[in-house]
Amino acid sequence: MNDFQIAGESVAPGETRDLKIKISETYTGDEIYLPLRVIRSSEDGPTLFVTAAVHGDEINGTGIVHDLMFGDALKLTSGTLILVPVVNIFGFENHERYLPDRRDLNRSFPGSEDGSMASRIAFIVMTEIIKKSDYGIDLHSAAFQRTNYPNVRGDFRDKGVRRLVRHFATSLNVDGRGPDGALRREACKAGVPTIILEAGEPWKIEPTVMKVGVQGILNVLIGLGMMEGAIQKPAYSARIQKTIWMRAEVGGILRFQVNPGDIVDKGEVVATNYSIMGAVQNELKAPEDGIVLSLATMPAVKPGEPVCHLAMPTKSLASIRRALAKAPKRGLYRKVAKDLASSVSPA
Ligand SMILES: [Zn+2]
Repeated sequence: MNDFQIAGESVAPGETRDLKIKISETYTGDEIYLPLRVIRSSEDGPTLFVTAAVHGDEINGTGIVHDLMFGDALKLTSGTLILVPVVNIFGFENHERYLPDRRDLNRSFPGSEDGSMASRIAFIVMTEIIKKSDYGIDLHSAAFQRTNYPNVRGDFRDKGVRRLVRHFATSLNVDGRGPDGALRREACKAGVPTIILEAGEPWKIEPTVMKVGVQGILNVLIGLGMMEGAIQKPAYSARIQKTIWMRAEVGGILRFQVNPGDIVDKGEVVATNYSIMGAVQNELKAPEDGIVLSLATMPAVKPGEPVCHLAMPTKSLASIRRALAKAPKRGLYRKVAKDLASSVSPA
């Protein structure tokens, strides 16, 4: 087994090292580094990267990586794990999604050596981390003023991605390549199957969201043969090939009748829109049967603003309801749904 070359250093089998890669510079010319941990088993096996905060304000993933770092659940039996708690160092410093040049790092992959600031950072992440791996998991949260029920996204045409999705074992699995320049899309193009987790809100490390993320990553490690153990499965697992954004029709204040992860039937009221003086203005009804993937956490809306992201599973809602009815009442996914519900305003 060879040493693993990364960040200008070599990491021997059985070794764990904290390293840093120069990623950019400040205006005063000081160097800015990307911190990472490389954990190597003494046995040969695949290399998996886990990245967080590519969007600098989505720090649930940072919590997930931390939990893997200082918890005792992680016991690698083969292969190499690269943990990157924050990719977008600049955004993280400013509690911002974007880079200081206003570009979105997650639209800048694969990047180039002599391109824009975002492009150069993407290039370093691509060459130093992604291309040295066999698989990847990139951790995200909802955008500003929204929360996501934990869901995994990936390009199901890619066999390796399907494998990661199956091992991660979450309820909602959204099929899609992702936008141009997204880390996961470009990683897949470069031959490194990569999925993302979308869970919770930005600007927070939510305890149960963290547990879902940690469980999913440990499941992947077990599935790839990098760890001993049994994969923990949710009550149901559904493939999503279609989603719909429900948007506000009038300006007002919302009250939600549903919570993240809820199953809704076509025509069911998702949210009621009240005028500032408390009169009902309209009810937003589900256009199709679906599952609540994402909800606004900012209840004051103008026409066109997003209220609810509905996912349409390829399997019937009836079969999902049957699986949920049989599931233990104290499961992790029930707990995360309850915790996320406390951030919206259930009627
Ligand atoms: Zn994101």
